[in-house]
Order: sequence, then C-alpha cells, then structure tokens
Amino acid sequence: MKRIYLDYSATTPTHPEVVKAMLPYFTDVFGNPSSIHSYGQEAKGAIEEARVKVADLIGARGEEIIFTSGGTEADNFALKGVAFANESKGNHIITGSIEHHAVIETCKFLERRGFLVTCLPVDEYGLIDPGDVKKAITDKTILISVMQANNEMGTIEPIAEIGRIARDAGIYFHTDAVQVVGHIPVDVNELEVDLLSMSAHKLYGPKGVGALYIRKGTKLIPFMHGGDQERRRRASTENIPGIVGLGKAVELARQEMGEEAERLTYLRDQLIKGLLERIDHTCLNGHPLKRLPNNVNVSVDFVEGESMLLNLDLEGICASTGSACSSSSLEPSHVLLALGLSPEQAHGSLRFSLGKWTGEEEIERVLEILPRIVAKLRAMSPLLKSH
Ligand code: PLP
Repeated sequence: MKRIYLDYSATTPTHPEVVKAMLPYFTDVFGNPSSIHSYGQEAKGAIEEARVKVADLIGARGEEIIFTSGGTEADNFALKGVAFANESKGNHIITGSIEHHAVIETCKFLERRGFLVTCLPVDEYGLIDPGDVKKAITDKTILISVMQANNEMGTIEPIAEIGRIARDAGIYFHTDAVQVVGHIPVDVNELEVDLLSMSAHKLYGPKGVGALYIRKGTKLIPFMHGGDQERRRRASTENIPGIVGLGKAVELARQEMGEEAERLTYLRDQLIKGLLERIDHTCLNGHPLKRLPNNVNVSVDFVEGESMLLNLDLEGICASTGSACSSSSLEPSHVLLALGLSPEQAHGSLRFSLGKWTGEEEIERVLEILPRIVAKLRAMSPLLKSH
C-alpha cells in the first residue's frame, strides 16, 4: 500500500539536496570552527555562508542570526533572554492563548520567577486583536510574543500591526515563525519584529537545528554559557552539518516558495471544500483565508479525532489530531478550545498538513476514504446516540 504523508506541519522529510549538501560536513569538513587551522576555518566558512542565506530569506543581517537546536530553543532563548536582561525595566510580558508549548511553558516558568504574563484571547478564527495588545501594555511591559501562524489550525496573525504597536511603545517584540519561514515571505523589517524563531525541520531541513533572529541592539542574556561561539550568545561547538542543512533548505525554499505556496493553497482549498461537502456536521477550524497554504483543520461532530486518525493510518494516510507534541495527551487542544470549540468538537478535530510531495491524487484519496471512515465510526458512536 502506498502511504500518504499529510503531516508536514509536524515535520518535513529532509530534502535529498539538503542531505547531499550536509554529507561532506560529517566526514571531510569535520573541523571545529573555533580551530584556527584550515579544517576549522573551512567549517567556520560554511556556518557563515549558511548564516547569510538564513538572514537574506527574512531581510536580516548575518550578524543578527544565532543558530540554535531548533524552534523550542529559539523560543526559550528569546523569552528568557529578554526577560532576564530587562528585569530592571519591568516584569510584564504579553502573549497569546494559542501559542506553541515552547512559548506557553516558558511563560509559565517566567511566572514562577516573578514575571507577570498577560495571555490574550483570540476570536473564533484564532486571530488576536492588535487593539487588545495595545490595551494590555503597561509601563512594566518589556516583551510581546505572538506567533506568526498557528501550527494546529494555520491562522496567520496580524504581526505587522502588532509590531507597529510594540515599536511605538518601545517594547521588544518576538514572533514564533516556525511554521511560516520558508513557506510564505517573511521580512523582519516589514513585520517590525525584534526576535523571530525558526526551525529547519519544518522546511525540509534536518531536525535539531533552528535559528533565532535578534535585531541589532536587542538586550538579552546568552542562552548557554561556555565558549565564545555565536557571538557569546549561545556557547557549544556548532552543529555544522545541521547548520549547512538549514542553509541549503533556506536556499531551496527561496527558489520554490512562490509557486509552491500557490500550488498548496489550491490543494488545501480542494481538500477543505471536499471535506465540508462530503461529510455533514463538519466545520473548518481557523481562518478561511488568513491561513497557511498547507493547513487543513476540521472538526467532525460525533467522532473522536483519534479514531479517525487510526482508521486513516490503516488506509495508509498519516495525519494528526493537533500538534505532534500534544497528540500523545488526551487533553483537548488548548488552541481549539481558545477558538470557542467545545471539548467534544476539539476532540473531533483532524489536521492535514500538505507539502512538497502532496498532489491531487493524495487529496482525492483522503476525500474518498475519510467519509467512509466517518460513516462507519458514526454508526457505532455513543456520541451520536446520546445526541
Ligand atoms: N513553534 C511552533 C509553532 C512549532 O510548530 C514547533 C514545532 O512543532 C516549535 C515551535 C518547536 O520547534 P522544534 O521542534 O524545532 O523545537
């Protein structure tokens, strides 16, 4: 049976060209970039080349990019780094209720360390109202952190508007752009962000590597203490193959992004339309237009997301019920609850995330299989009987 992967938001396969670019850095160019001999300097050159590629993709300067072990570290670095470096100015942080756990849990940690966190609600589409951000600002606010697009239901937030508010108020602004970078254009100056997180494995790069953009002049403490690597902001010998892989992934994304986003938007809309037409009592989660080109998230009444997922898997279709990180928990998704869905609707959610190797054939197959699965599950559903 041919398997169909529709979970690109959880992770993407590493692009064969990315793997090819990385390989020499395990064997031939293995030097420590801190070494002054030629082996070290070759490795250092490769890092700097990747840094410029990453910077160019988001309109930044090379020296404003710090490589990390992924999106989670970039989020931790941004929030803790700014919070602890600016404690003397204030202790208030503003964020949103649908952030990734990497931001939510970091905020909870900071609360335990004496910071005050305001968590803003979203509307039924998952949008934050920039007016709410403005109202939440106090003279103690030091940081605003709002994700650029949500990983579960794909809504794209009004980051440029929030950026302007933060800039006018003289407050640092961080955005988690892990699901966005490499998929749609991102420009840190247009968005007026001071810090931006990204992760290689969401854009056909390897796992375990990412980056944090830090606008020049931003005051934040180092994430790891030790050697002088990464301008003394993130000690530890660099993950050269990973960084080279991120650089290559970014280069490919730059070439392919425009056409690919258009192609995926078309397939996304075909899938949404087909699901809503062919399965009754189904609704789309997230904004119909302001959403990532590859994200489809629906709630199907009277069935459990997990049951649909397992049945899809038996048919070779791999999707998700929410974020990969929380899908092992039985708690309904905090994101879907924040949109105002009932716990039952949140439990009946399915996310299909499309990517490079998704075509019409894959979409058709889902549209053929899922209605049958839902009909079968509903026929034996206690949820339907009690309705
Ligand atoms: N932020 C968002 C929005 C994500 O979707 C993810 C991954 O799922 C992360 C952060 C964490 O990234 P990483 O897996 O690279 O730590």
